[in-house]
Amino acid sequence: MGKGIISASLGKLLQAKGYKVTIQKFDPYINIDPGTLNPYEHGECYVTDDGAETDLDLGHYERFLNITTSQDNNITTGRIYNNVITKERKGEYLGKTVQVVPHITDEIKRNIYLLGESGKYDFVITEIGGCVGDIESLPFIEAVRQAKWDLGPHNSLVIHLTLIPYLKAAGELKTKPTQHSVKQLLEAGIQPDILVCRTEKRLPDDIRKKLALFCNVNINSVIEAMDAPTIYDVPMLMRKEKLTERVLSKLKLPAKSEPDLDQWKVFLGKLKNPTDEITVGLVGKYVELPDAYKSIIESFVHAGAENECKVNLDLIHSEEVTDESVEKILGKVDGILIAPGFGERGIEGKILASKYARENKVPFFGICLGMQCAVVEFARNVLKLSDAASTEFNENTPYPVIDLMEEQKTIIDKGGTMRLGAYPCKLAKGSKSAMAYQSNLIEERHRHRYEFNNKYLEEIKKHGMEPVGINPETQLVEIVEIKDHPWFIGTQFHPELKSTVLNPHPLFVHFIKAIIKNKKS
Ligand code: GLN
Repeated sequence: MGKGIISASLGKLLQAKGYKVTIQKFDPYINIDPGTLNPYEHGECYVTDDGAETDLDLGHYERFLNITTSQDNNITTGRIYNNVITKERKGEYLGKTVQVVPHITDEIKRNIYLLGESGKYDFVITEIGGCVGDIESLPFIEAVRQAKWDLGPHNSLVIHLTLIPYLKAAGELKTKPTQHSVKQLLEAGIQPDILVCRTEKRLPDDIRKKLALFCNVNINSVIEAMDAPTIYDVPMLMRKEKLTERVLSKLKLPAKSEPDLDQWKVFLGKLKNPTDEITVGLVGKYVELPDAYKSIIESFVHAGAENECKVNLDLIHSEEVTDESVEKILGKVDGILIAPGFGERGIEGKILASKYARENKVPFFGICLGMQCAVVEFARNVLKLSDAASTEFNENTPYPVIDLMEEQKTIIDKGGTMRLGAYPCKLAKGSKSAMAYQSNLIEERHRHRYEFNNKYLEEIKKHGMEPVGINPETQLVEIVEIKDHPWFIGTQFHPELKSTVLNPHPLFVHFIKAIIKNKKS
């Protein structure tokens, strides 16, 4: 439906008016976090600086608002129950029967108020995942009802995002589903203050009037959210519909200044008027579900706009890349990105794609598993260590050039136990990476268990693959580059998690620059 984008757009507009805003997401599933979910289930797992494995909507919040989020910005039913049960075992409810109301709902409310209590924000936008009427959402809806009561009418409001379907055969927009979902909210004791209506056609006045009448909202609180060519148009659409004005007037807050969206508009202008065009092959194994690569795809949008270049992404299934097909598949792309991932499936295709990029001097960007594949390929074909591998896919390889990190060897539990979050990385002077970042010390986010095996460092260096990014505390290799190549960079971290509209990621920006240059020459 787009709750994440609407929340992020509202956040952006409030921020543009001078307010300090954060956004949090409540997910009604029982996993403690999405870290243990297959990307096919839930899309990408987004990682914050503090190492939380979170829902991909947090990526939208960071990209739109140019803020950092944390563990407190994503809460699941699993986390809520886990907290309550832990407290129960400690005896914190001694003598009481622990129940959904009030104990679970209290814990939900505590997590809503927590961000506000930090004193850092004027607004906390809380996005409730799922739909009104879902069994899983009930405790969250009840907590919202109570919170509205606790906070009072001028300190909170409820926005209901709803679909207005268009029936082509009848040529009509239908308000019935909205009437029903609002009725369900009313049964739960919640009167929505504002309706945001997702629609593929403009909402005529009679439809707005009907929605206002049946859903007990003021007509100017019926906000049209038209399908847009890019998600980055949505703040402008919401501005035109005066969503922020409605929010501020209901909360009796001053409108402050005119929203400052100048930089946003510059970005949109560049995005929509490219002067160059390139095609990048994104090689991964979850390509049937592009949400699995959400942050990478968005990073190309930001960095493409920065270069005034349209970036077409060719999503390539790594299992389809074979000795026979590689030329046909990769011969037509201008740059190759090997995506992150886990497990053995599709690995050989990724290794082959790295080889193709290296040998044919196609600009190459390997992220996490993508960097590991580049190292394996280099060891096999340049160092001639046949059967070199990562121990993730071949435990008995004679040449474990990528191996399990030392501290991972004793870990058995799967949830939240990877190397997670932001770590520092020192860049070698004169490297392409240092040039891109314009800095010698950076901090980037990680999510992995395996790493470059430093036993092979000297040998690999001798043959022309340079470890140009090193963790200053642990000496782990975080970036490799091949010198004799137009642009060949592999990063153990995930640069895509820090790209925002206002701060496109330097490695993506320079990857695109290199592709444009390479194509022209
Ligand atoms: N599977 C690899 C590891 O755990 C890479 C992880 C990733 O690409 N995020 O090290």
